[in-house]
Amino acid sequence: MRRISWCLLLAAWISACSGDELPGHPGPPNEGHELPPDGAADEDGAVEIDAGDSDVLVVRDSGLRDVPAMDARSADAVATDVVTPRDRPVDAPAEAGPSRMDVPRPADAGPPRVDVPRPLDTGPIAVPIPAAVSPGAACHALIQRLGVRFSVAGATRGVVDPVTVTPPIEGVHYRYASWTAAERPMLMDCRLAVALVRMGRELRGRWNIDDVQHLGVYNYRVIAGGTRLSQHAYAMAIDIAGFRSTSRTTYSVLSDFVETSASSCPLPASNAVDRTLKEIACWMYDSRTFNIVLTPNYNALHRDHYHVDLTAGSHFVGAELPEGVDPPHSPFYDFLIDDD
Ligand SMILES: [Zn+2]
Repeated sequence: MRRISWCLLLAAWISACSGDELPGHPGPPNEGHELPPDGAADEDGAVEIDAGDSDVLVVRDSGLRDVPAMDARSADAVATDVVTPRDRPVDAPAEAGPSRMDVPRPADAGPPRVDVPRPLDTGPIAVPIPAAVSPGAACHALIQRLGVRFSVAGATRGVVDPVTVTPPIEGVHYRYASWTAAERPMLMDCRLAVALVRMGRELRGRWNIDDVQHLGVYNYRVIAGGTRLSQHAYAMAIDIAGFRSTSRTTYSVLSDFVETSASSCPLPASNAVDRTLKEIACWMYDSRTFNIVLTPNYNALHRDHYHVDLTAGSHFVGAELPEGVDPPHSPFYDFLIDDD
């Protein structure tokens, strides 16, 4: 590319014509002045710009005007080491790097976005329920994690760890003696609340049942005809009269349970509703959700309900009454379903 120092040529032409120095140019005579290399600065720091075919001469400052005393090599060194504009192109990409690093972050944020719906897709992650839980703080913490609405109750005769639970429990409603009864808070041992959570998961997940009709939990009394306290006295038992599904199918122990001579699971069934009732009873027993399960097969006193309780060391369903289990049920006993 042909470049011409129009400035110098113009100065030489003027000088040749007039023999005078360029006005305002204090430097040495232009005669013999070497053209600076392309794009380089002359002593004044003026940089020639390729004017091309244009008649316009463009001159700009090179930025080296402040280092006139240095030789070219020093100037180059300064230009390299000091003049920041030359550094900027080096630094800029480095500075732009983090920005560029930021760019992929939305892509990186992709996986979390994928992760977020997972709990929604898979439903709530069920809190594990241990096979056994100690009463007190450990049990309270557990039912808290299980989503049970409760408050720690005051000292209650016979009850080791009394809590007042407000149903529904694990999505299952509890009504006393009638499907139209309003739900009320229920006083129970915390460990029974854990068992009801476990039962609620099964009722809803397996049979689509979300309503339980019960005949009481806490009742401080002895077993009829004896002196031993019932598990109801410890608030570790519940009498269940029936179940109802979300589609309003009812499973009444009194009306639908068909008695048989069988005393162990599986219990033979006569129809679908009877089968469901017996499957529930046997699941309660097999899963050890309750240690004692008494059905109408047991005796006439349980014709209208399942008695289920948490008698320690027991695993019983059916025919033979172990010590300390359910006394005869009476609609007149003074059961309590809350702590008043
Ligand atoms: Zn009972």
